[in-house]
Amino acid sequence: MTENPNPFFGPSTLPYRLPAFDDIRDEHYLPAFQRGMDEQLAEIDAVVADPEPPTFANTVAAIERSGQVLKRTAMAFFTVAASDATDAVRDIETEVSPRLAEHRDAIYLNRELYQRLRQVDGADDEESWLLEKYRVDFVRAGADLDEPQQERLRALNQELSRLSTPFQQNLVDASTAEALVVDDPALLDGLSESDRKAAEQDDGTYVLPLLNYTNQPALAELTDRGTRQRLYELSIGRAVQNREVAVRMATLRAERADLLGYPTHAAFAVADQTAKTADAVEEMLGQLVAPTVANVRREAEALAAEAGFAIEPWDWAFYAEKVRKARFDLDSAEMRPYFELDRVLRDGVFHAAARLYGVTFGERADLHGYNSDVTTFEVFDEDGSSIGLFLFDPYARPTKRGGAWMNNLVDQSHLLGELPVVMNNLNVTKPVEGPTLLSFDEVRTAFHEFGHALHGLFSDVGYPRVSGTEVPRDFVEYPSQVNEMWATWPEVLANYAKHHETGEPMPTELVDKMKAAETFNQGFATLEYLAAALLDWAWHTLEPGQVVEDAEAFEAAALASAGVAEPLVPPRYRTSYFAHVFAGGYSAGYYSYIWSEVLDADSVDWFEENEGLTRANGDHFRRTLLSRGGSVDPMQAFREFRGRDPHIEPLLRRRGLLPQD
Ligand SMILES: [Zn+2]
Repeated sequence: MTENPNPFFGPSTLPYRLPAFDDIRDEHYLPAFQRGMDEQLAEIDAVVADPEPPTFANTVAAIERSGQVLKRTAMAFFTVAASDATDAVRDIETEVSPRLAEHRDAIYLNRELYQRLRQVDGADDEESWLLEKYRVDFVRAGADLDEPQQERLRALNQELSRLSTPFQQNLVDASTAEALVVDDPALLDGLSESDRKAAEQDDGTYVLPLLNYTNQPALAELTDRGTRQRLYELSIGRAVQNREVAVRMATLRAERADLLGYPTHAAFAVADQTAKTADAVEEMLGQLVAPTVANVRREAEALAAEAGFAIEPWDWAFYAEKVRKARFDLDSAEMRPYFELDRVLRDGVFHAAARLYGVTFGERADLHGYNSDVTTFEVFDEDGSSIGLFLFDPYARPTKRGGAWMNNLVDQSHLLGELPVVMNNLNVTKPVEGPTLLSFDEVRTAFHEFGHALHGLFSDVGYPRVSGTEVPRDFVEYPSQVNEMWATWPEVLANYAKHHETGEPMPTELVDKMKAAETFNQGFATLEYLAAALLDWAWHTLEPGQVVEDAEAFEAAALASAGVAEPLVPPRYRTSYFAHVFAGGYSAGYYSYIWSEVLDADSVDWFEENEGLTRANGDHFRRTLLSRGGSVDPMQAFREFRGRDPHIEPLLRRRGLLPQD
């Protein structure tokens, strides 16, 4: 037998350079990471040693071309680490993360490379914009610091990268190790038959794993109040060992910001975002607090009236569901039969894209993902030319992290002649048998993630650094949020919302009720989000050297001082399970979702003013915005799309936050 060659050492020979998951083994990753880092450092040395005067081509484009083995390896590996992290993959991640941070520092703290970059001029707007991005990256990475300061910065970056891995892994462990275990099935009264079956274990007990958010979906259904309380308390109390990790990370980030000349990590984090300053973020969030809290208190009164007693946080979702039924006669369970997963994807998500952009999708059963749950589609433009690949992985599994997301497996760029390969992950419970029926929230999420996928697929830029979704993170949620509008657009909804057994369209009255219910409970939804955004903000506005003794007390004080400490509405994430900011890239960035939603709501207004679902509108959005990735100033792209600066009123109206008459 011959040794299996390492598939990362050369470009993939599959269509679109899709990673050859069938050939990739765990033991390939570490040697490929090592070779990838070594090769890239040698390539960077060659750029620095080039005797020719520095030019865009021999410096910036050369950096963009470097590190192909590393990039291939990292894109495949981190896809798997998020979606199907076995113990072996987790061990590799723990080992490789600090080495990657060190590698990044070796490039961005390279003074000769930085000096060379400073002498280059861009020949056109795209080159100048990319060059400026690189210069800012180098300065923010510490290229202007002296040697001892750079030494300290390296140590900080490595420790921060080392800490984020156990934070995430503790969280994945807690989802099952700290799950709710019930012996008596009567205590699960209210759960759907399929959820109850999914919870049943071989030993006769029932397990409800802890999902992402504070508010577990089952809280809306469980009729036993004691069971709800137990589930809620397990949810908010999970992964306590992460509190210590969070304190350490926030402290290190404050020190790093100080070293780089910023007053706080938040100020550092937003400087290269569209928000630009901490004040702008605080002003935006601050505008929302009072009307949201007022809205929540009105909602709480209605729920207490329904319950007939003073409700507790574990009662909110349950009574909200009752009030929703009473007020709108809308039962979420009644809707599920109309939202069958495959139909939602093909006749909903893909259909909307076809109507707007003229694109078509062909399943490629011959192209495999890392798991048999993954389906691959080839995407074509209206004229039949190839756009890229789209991979879809809808199901939850113990090895997948929580939430839903899009990521790239190959970045589009003209420089490397590559077309995009993008994927979407959801966390839908896989039924033991029968069709997968979604909640409306899950339907909306599928449209949302596909909005990111379109941003990646339509990318038409020169350089990988600015490809597709490589935009500031307070902009990146904007196109995906806009795409959610098509989930309830009448022609789209009518095309996919059909009963999975009879094929009957969703009854008009159910559709009307669903729409009427859209603004219901928005106070709650807005406040749980705002509280999380403000909690993130508090952790990242620590002064350098400020000591936090008790993470829980810090959290309580932060929520109180921001005016969002409503006992019935805890933050969507508490510190110990706030993976976005302690294990993901969203530190001092959770505000981004609502920042992007201002742009989103304003853009939805534009589509509505211009007849909605038309090819002309799709082409306009694609040309001015989706195709440009981060190759231009994103706010300039927004203005070219919208014809002016963004207005905040559409967001306030959508969330019921305009002053009540
Ligand atoms: Zn998103």
